[in-house]
Amino acid sequence: MLEVWFTEQQAASVRLGLRVDAILAKEKTPYQELVVADTAAYGRMLVLDGAVQTTMTDEFVYHEMLTHVPLTIHPNPRQVAIIGGGDGGAVREVLKHASVDAVHLIEIDQRVVEIARHYFPALSESLSHRKAHVHFTDGIQWIRQVRNLDVVMVDSTDPVGPAVGLFQPEFYRSVAEALGPEGVMVAQSESPFLQPNVIQTVVRGMRTAFPVVRLYLAAVPTYPSGLWSFTLGAKHSLPGSIDAKRAVTPTRYWTPAVHAAAFVLPRFVEDLLA
Ligand code: SAM
Repeated sequence: MLEVWFTEQQAASVRLGLRVDAILAKEKTPYQELVVADTAAYGRMLVLDGAVQTTMTDEFVYHEMLTHVPLTIHPNPRQVAIIGGGDGGAVREVLKHASVDAVHLIEIDQRVVEIARHYFPALSESLSHRKAHVHFTDGIQWIRQVRNLDVVMVDSTDPVGPAVGLFQPEFYRSVAEALGPEGVMVAQSESPFLQPNVIQTVVRGMRTAFPVVRLYLAAVPTYPSGLWSFTLGAKHSLPGSIDAKRAVTPTRYWTPAVHAAAFVLPRFVEDLLA
């Protein structure tokens, strides 16, 4: 039997292999190489520049933990921005918070959104919601021109190409200026096993912009090593626990208890932050 396998080079000596049932799209956009494929194990998958961005089987972990953690830490999130995230999964989760008046998606690559609308309707239909506003521009430029946001999420590709600037201290300072007094930001910050230097760069950079910086973890099987980190920056200390009235439904991964546990770090990750 002929088998087709997708291979992601996750680190110099680490690869992820997924058996592919069908390749649905493959093109070079002005920013990156984009592939959509159906995989046997994880369902439909979006790949950019050879790196898995999302699969329909494990996307809920990443999207719920990227969004519900900062949104339940902020006392009353109304104005929200997502930098990157063109698949629409993060917007879908943000819209579960009744307090949100507007969610802005700032995606540099229009083709990612167009492809997501076609091949990932369960993620991208959120982008047609009346509260969702899609901007096709560089998030680094966009964030410099806005004020009074409540929550900013960086749902970016790895720190290559147009995403490099999203991992720089200047960007975090622009985000802090764009946020209101109770503002919270979160950025995906890669794997403590395979990209510990990225975590250190993000944490160090965010500390130049926010008095409170905390790391939290979640298990995302198709991301390098399966253990993924998020770095959160806040202008105030974090609440001790999540108000039960803020519980979000429906979710499949995030709960108030998972939220609290995600901030409990193994010693080797704490050591990275020292
Ligand atoms: N969940 C994903 C992950 O961690 O692998 C990220 C998904 S999302 C598809 C990432 C998006 O960030 C891409 O579509 C890319 O075009 C976008 N992006 C990269 N740099 C950007 C920038 N400077 N401004 C706005 N969007 C950017």
